[in-house]
Amino acid sequence: MKEDSELLPAEEARARTLALVQPLPTEWVPWDDALGRALAEDVRAQRTLPPWDNSAMDGYAVRSEDLTGPAPVRLRVGETIYAGQTPRQGLVPGGCARIMTGAPLPPGADAVVMRERTRPGPEADTVDILEAVGPGHFVRPRGEDAREGEVLLPRGTPLGIPELGLLVAQGRSLVPVPRRPRVAILSTGDELCRLDAPAEGRIVDANAPVLAQAVRRAGGVPTVLGIARDTLEDVSRLLEGAEGHDLLLTSAGMSVGEHDFVREALSRWGVRQDFWRVAIKPGKPLGVGHKGRLVYCGLPGNPTSSLVTFELFVRPALRRMLGHADVEPPRVPGRVCGELKKALGLAHFLRVTTQWKEGELWASPLSTQTSGVLRSAASATHLLHFPREASRLTTGDRVELLPLSWGA
Ligand code: AMP
Ligand code: MG
Repeated sequence: MKEDSELLPAEEARARTLALVQPLPTEWVPWDDALGRALAEDVRAQRTLPPWDNSAMDGYAVRSEDLTGPAPVRLRVGETIYAGQTPRQGLVPGGCARIMTGAPLPPGADAVVMRERTRPGPEADTVDILEAVGPGHFVRPRGEDAREGEVLLPRGTPLGIPELGLLVAQGRSLVPVPRRPRVAILSTGDELCRLDAPAEGRIVDANAPVLAQAVRRAGGVPTVLGIARDTLEDVSRLLEGAEGHDLLLTSAGMSVGEHDFVREALSRWGVRQDFWRVAIKPGKPLGVGHKGRLVYCGLPGNPTSSLVTFELFVRPALRRMLGHADVEPPRVPGRVCGELKKALGLAHFLRVTTQWKEGELWASPLSTQTSGVLRSAASATHLLHFPREASRLTTGDRVELLPLSWGA
């Protein structure tokens, strides 16, 4: 058995996991199924937006050169232009048009004065402009959002909500993205029963259903293979169901207990182990391997450990499959609340709640950190990284916090 000091550090384990992973083949999907994936190809603008110079305010479209004299300047008001209308006439010197937000500027106009900076003139068709404005004032220029033919969003752009808005505004209904990862999930253990088949003396399999939710939230498509008994035959039989998937997750049976047959069954099925055991707590028994293009992650059995390792290793892998370039878990700076001690050798990822105080994020570890109970994960918002080579943290120490994707 390896000493803790010989185990793979978390960063190296993540790098070695990610080295097995590629973006999945491209598919064209309806734009509203693309959220959270990254573009698989450059997308060019097929229309110029806005299509015309238009007003950013309700007010008056003017020729800025008419306003150079001492204020107020009296102008003659021609037509009123509403959004959705086309101006009928151009501006003549000394003339202006009433204009609403989003309406196209009439020919000759080069600026807009907001209504609040005007007052009605003595005759019904005049207005007094109270301030001088320069060319372009409150004008949204044609092509400010997109110019036909230019690359609007380059390949690799993560598709969040505004990016989807840009695509929709272009009239695009289909978007090229990597297809969603298909993820097979297998639970192992004689002590487990299914949620819908409770049995005396057994505990309900929590890992597969919880991991399936986490996979779905991360953009994957989960398939639960079921619960394998602690025999080589049963684990092997259920593993067959993982054929055709991009990722296989197993939970439990990864230790060196007498009944831990998972590693042997995987090896017989053709999975090559890339590494096993990582210098982290919780999550030390994590194992990673591959069979052809299928990536395998053997997660620990303790429900909180399996969730922590999902966050540190599996989610980054899924993000890479979905085309993202930046797949490292996000990190924010924070400070510790409380006194913490541990032995050297393993990095600890403590489940914490956080509070914003005096411009900083303060992290308080949940009162239980036992990875065997889900209570040690529930209500946590971040993982506090207690580094491998540190043994003590004290109130006010600066730490790295990893925002969790677990919450409601
Ligand atoms: P193992 O890795 O097989 O030694 O399991 C570690 C611990 O996790 C044991 O207490 C198991 O009962 C528990 N465990 C394993 N798999 C599950 C599961 N799917 N749902 C809930 N608890 C589990
Ligand atoms: Mg077990």
